Amino acid sequence: MADIIALKDTVTGTSFQPGTIEYFNPDVGQVATLDILYDYDSLRQTLDRDALSSNRETTLWRYRDLLPIAPDSPVPPLAVGWTALYQTPRLAQDLGIQQAWVKDDGANPTGSLKDRASTMVVAHALEKGVKVVSTASTGNAAAALAGVGASVNHTTIETIIFVPAAAPEAKIAQLLVYGATVILVEDSYDTAFDLCYEMCISENWYCRNTGINPYTSEGKKTVAYEIAEQLNWQAPDVVIVSVGDGSIISGVHKGFVELHKLGWIEHVPRLIGVQAAGSSPLVKAWQNNMAAVDMQAEEVHTIADSISAGLPRDRVKALRAVRETKGAFVAVSDEAIIQAIPTFARLTGVFAEPSTAAIYAGAKEALKQGYLQADERVIFISTGNGLKDVRRAQESVSGGLRVQPTLGAVRTALKNR
Ligand SMILES: *Cc1c(COP(=O)(O)O)cnc(C)c1O
Repeated sequence: MADIIALKDTVTGTSFQPGTIEYFNPDVGQVATLDILYDYDSLRQTLDRDALSSNRETTLWRYRDLLPIAPDSPVPPLAVGWTALYQTPRLAQDLGIQQAWVKDDGANPTGSLKDRASTMVVAHALEKGVKVVSTASTGNAAAALAGVGASVNHTTIETIIFVPAAAPEAKIAQLLVYGATVILVEDSYDTAFDLCYEMCISENWYCRNTGINPYTSEGKKTVAYEIAEQLNWQAPDVVIVSVGDGSIISGVHKGFVELHKLGWIEHVPRLIGVQAAGSSPLVKAWQNNMAAVDMQAEEVHTIADSISAGLPRDRVKALRAVRETKGAFVAVSDEAIIQAIPTFARLTGVFAEPSTAAIYAGAKEALKQGYLQADERVIFISTGNGLKDVRRAQESVSGGLRVQPTLGAVRTALKNR
């Protein structure tokens, strides 16, 4: 376990003692999650990165020494993390870069990287002894909480999930299947988000909302640890990831920065965030050198629902991640995103949802704009499974050979293909 020394507000720099604050600095409001900080000098003295090679834990809990959880505390049983890192030479060749890898986080139990955050939050909830964990989301964060909650036992932890009533049926079904209590709010996602938070405060439920709960970041940072360990501690030059609320890219940043502070990697990679052109407030803020606190909500439209966010909930830390690492933000069209679904799958074997496939189009854009160089080692984080959005996947391909059930018909169809 890593002992928390402070929770730091990234806007004002104010530090809070552990136990004195739950979510965010009330003087600043909800613009960024607090940074959970440890005594890195002492961790550096006591921890040995090479000891990990004999660690047989094949989930994100192999990094328990760097996570805020006591050694004897129970953790949810779903096997989250330690996902495959595939070297993908055809992807590299296609893009004209030296080396590329795909981190396949769509292979997590509920199909997305969000499982990392949910399992950390539920582990903390178990430690605190809270009975109800709640979140507002229409998609992967909700599924992750519902799934991790179900793995624990509903009499121990109840999950209450707020979704806009108009959310896609398939996504609502996944929550109901896991046994979550689903509140269908007759209004927008933003309203559902606020309602969820208000209920959490008034009923003393534990709130997992993105941009509010600092433990989400502690879960997400483990993807960076895994990438570094899987590359034998030779940090990549660049990491490309898609961005909506900005919470994943902030977690990835924290993970690499911590490893650097521990002396386990020699440099922190540049982070390239990819947004959909129709939902790209962070691209604009970055290009215009704007302070995150000055960003205003805007209308957004994209088919990539997991990265649709008009006022990113973790905007302060997302901008910091890109600025501090001298990375970049790029925007890609919905058309390019749809096209990228089969291209990415055929070059890598990884079937990704639209919000993830955007990273392929984003890499092309970054190369064109000079943010990515041909001689670099690049990691693509595949954040979500393609089965999450089959409708868009179908739009991206055509074909299938329709035949009468005879050998002759199959042969003719194959010949004419
Ligand atoms: C949530 C999510 C993202 C974006 O993460 P943010 O933290 O909102 O920036 C990207 N891809 C998938 C599949 C997601 O579920």
